[in-house]
Amino acid sequence: MKTLVQNKTNSYCETGNYHTFCPISCVSWLYQKIEDSFFLVIGTKTCGYFLQNALSVMIFSEPRYAMAQLEEGDISAQYNEYSELLKVCLKIKKDRLPKVIFWIGTCTTEIIKMDLESTAKKIEAEIEVPIVVANANGLDYSFTQGEDTVLAALIKKAPLRKNKSLNTTPQLFLFGSLPNFISTQLSLELSKQGIKVAGWLPSSKFTQLPSIAPGDFVCGVHPYLSRAAYTLIRQRECRLIIAPFPIGPDGTRAWIEKICVTLGYSISGLKEREKQIWNKLVSYTNKLEGKTVFFTGDNLLELSLARLLTSCKMKVCEIGIPYLDKRYQAGELELIEKICKEQGIRMPKIVEKPDNYNQLDRIREFQPELVITGMALANPLEARGINTKWSVEFTFAQIHGFGNSENLLKLITRPLSRTQHLVNT
Ligand code: SF4
Repeated sequence: MKTLVQNKTNSYCETGNYHTFCPISCVSWLYQKIEDSFFLVIGTKTCGYFLQNALSVMIFSEPRYAMAQLEEGDISAQYNEYSELLKVCLKIKKDRLPKVIFWIGTCTTEIIKMDLESTAKKIEAEIEVPIVVANANGLDYSFTQGEDTVLAALIKKAPLRKNKSLNTTPQLFLFGSLPNFISTQLSLELSKQGIKVAGWLPSSKFTQLPSIAPGDFVCGVHPYLSRAAYTLIRQRECRLIIAPFPIGPDGTRAWIEKICVTLGYSISGLKEREKQIWNKLVSYTNKLEGKTVFFTGDNLLELSLARLLTSCKMKVCEIGIPYLDKRYQAGELELIEKICKEQGIRMPKIVEKPDNYNQLDRIREFQPELVITGMALANPLEARGINTKWSVEFTFAQIHGFGNSENLLKLITRPLSRTQHLVNT
C-alpha cells in the first residue's frame, strides 16, 4: 500500500516503517564526550542486546555506561523502584566516581509509566550526585534524537548567569556533541571572523557546563537537535541562530556567514576559503558529478548530506528522513533550494517517516548509483548490484567543518571507487 501524503513544501509523510538505530545508542558517544559522566540505561534485555551488539568492541573497554535491567517484579510493581535504583546508583558512585549520572528511559519505562524524574530527585539528594533524566526511547525518537533528549535534559542543569546590564554584549554558545578537537576547529573558524565562542553544550566535563543568560545567542551544529534548541529558547530565553549546518565546505561557509550576519560581524575571506577547499576536492567531486543518490533515511543528517551532494552535482532521487523540523532546519532547506535553483534543477523529494518497503520499490524504479542506507538493507541491495553506503558511519565519523570535508567525501565515494576497482580487475 503506498501512502504518500504531501504537505505544503516538497515533503511527504509515509508510514514510518523503516530501520534505524534505537536512540539509546547516543550513550556511546556522549559518555566519551562528557568525561565525568556515567550513563545508566533503565530498560529490558532487548535494550541490553541492542547496546551490546550495536556498540561492538566498545563494550570490552569498561565503558561508563550500564544497563539497569528491569525484571518481571519491576514491571508488576512488586519491587520498589526507589530502593532498586538507589542500590545501583550507590554502586556506580563507589566504583566509578562520576560527577553526574544520566538515567536513560526506554520504551518499557515509558509504557509502565515509571516516574523516573521524581525518583531521581530523591536519589540525587541521597547520594549527592546530580542525576539527569532523559527519555531516549524508541517509541518517540529515532537514533540521533537520543542526543537531543539528553541535551534538552542537561540544559536544565546548566548554571544560569546573573542578569546582565543592558550594555553587556550577549554571548554565543554552540550546542551539539563533537569530539573536542573538532569543536576547537569550529571555534577557531569563528575566531578568524573575530567571534568568540563563550562555551559549548555539552562541555567535556559536567562540572564545566556553560552558564547561559537570557538574551544569549545559541547555534546548533547538528540537524537533529530541535528539542534542545527549543529548550534553550523557552527555558533559557536564548536567541537561536537558524543556519545550515557546518557539514561540507558549502554548509560550513553558510553556517559561519549566518552567525557573522546575526551578530553584526563583517565576513572576511570565507568565499575564498570555501573555493580553496572545493579545489582540493576535485578528484572526489569528479567521481560524484552526474551520479544518482537515494537516501532511505535513519539519522536526520540526510538533508545536510543531500545538500552537500547536490553541490557536488549529484542527482538526489529521494531524501528519506525520520523527522524533519522545518523551523529548526529552515536554514538547511533554504540552502538546498538555493543550490537547486542555481543549477536549474528541481528540489529533491523529501520523505519524512519513510516506509522501507515502498522505498525498495522506488529504488528498483530509479536504479540509483548510490543508496545511503542502514545495514539491514545494505547487503541485500549490494547483492542486487546497487552500491550502498552505510549511513551510521556519518554519525560516528568526523564530518564537520572545512577540515573534515575531504574525510566526508572520501566516505561517500568509497563504494563507487570500490565497484570501479572490481570492474577493472
Ligand atoms: S527501541 Fe525501546 S526496547 Fe528497543 S532497544 Fe530501544 S528503548 Fe529498548
